[in-house]
Amino acid sequence: MARCLIGCGSNLGRPRQHLADALDLLRTMPGVTLLAASRPRETRAVGGPPGQGTVLNGAVLVDTELSPDDVLGMLTAIENTLHRERTERWGPRTIDLDLLLYDNAAFDRDGLTVPHPRMTTRRFVLEPCVEIAPDFIHPLAGCTVRELLDNISRPHPHVAVIGVPGSGAPEVAAHVADTLLARLLHAPAAVPTPDDRPDYARRWEKSLAASAAAVSAETWPQDPHGTVADFWLDTFLVAAEERLPEADATFARIAGNAVTPNVGILLVASAAELEERLAFRQRRPAPQTDTFADLSATTTALTEVTPAGTAGTVRTLVSLQERLRRRLLSPRNDAPGRPKSVVVVEADDLGQAMGEAVAAVEAMV
Ligand code: ADP
Ligand code: MG
Repeated sequence: MARCLIGCGSNLGRPRQHLADALDLLRTMPGVTLLAASRPRETRAVGGPPGQGTVLNGAVLVDTELSPDDVLGMLTAIENTLHRERTERWGPRTIDLDLLLYDNAAFDRDGLTVPHPRMTTRRFVLEPCVEIAPDFIHPLAGCTVRELLDNISRPHPHVAVIGVPGSGAPEVAAHVADTLLARLLHAPAAVPTPDDRPDYARRWEKSLAASAAAVSAETWPQDPHGTVADFWLDTFLVAAEERLPEADATFARIAGNAVTPNVGILLVASAAELEERLAFRQRRPAPQTDTFADLSATTTALTEVTPAGTAGTVRTLVSLQERLRRRLLSPRNDAPGRPKSVVVVEADDLGQAMGEAVAAVEAMV
């Protein structure tokens, strides 16, 4: 027997009726016991095409004998019964049913990701969840849904756009800050790329100190607009793994007073795209263009020491990206600097990544 939270939304036809119908259908499903349903609430449509009607959202708590895949199959069957048509991504729909949480399951495969990958920044999801199951634990965040709602309700929300050089983190962060009228905080210093130069430890410490000062709790603003940073301090730790035996202690000494981001948006680019951007950067060095400027420092640092050239640089970036993902998303990792809400955004199409990042942050309001 597993306990699940299911999210429901509707903004086409007669939303109140569709939610009631979905609930009735859920009640009749074999192997499913309905424990609680939130009241429906009206919210703005987030992401998707403009001009959509408001959405009626709710959440349902059930016990079930079904596997996660069978729960999703059942939800899709109910959506089809209620004439859900899949045309545009995030377009208007008679009914949308999402599997949010399934016990403490955490997996990501083709067609099904649990917990639901975008739930932790969505107020319209978390509020109904808190109404019916405030103590349900989100296995990746390692905290309850109530704490997740508190986390996105901070007076000065702090969003960190996280990614390796060339992932587009500065570009995406600037766009999000611009669109949402937040303060943009640009990385004061690049994370030195792991190499074998003798002064790596000193350069690492110096850049870390500059970056930590920018996110010091003592000078952190309190205005309600929030901050969008294009860096995450813990990237220093991830980059130094196995290189600096003293990294943890030095980090604690220098960065102990840093504020932890509430939300992390991890940009993930493919190896092919990173290679393409490196080549672009080499053809068009600064100041011809600022796009992917963060790659310039990386290539210089790496080509000085790695004769492997572009292929070696790409390998280094991909490995760093994978370790960042693990640090942000592995269950039961309670690193103090880790944001409670993490959203992964594919970064090969920069315009699409910007849209998804804005949608994730807009959903907090
Ligand atoms: P959204 O729910 O983000 O608005 P859709 O309802 O259009 O978007 O879902 C897109 C796809 O996401 C579905 O076809 C479904 O297979 C997949 N999916 C992956 N994980 C989940 C999940 N936990 N719950 C619901 N759908 C999921
Ligand atoms: Mg859905």
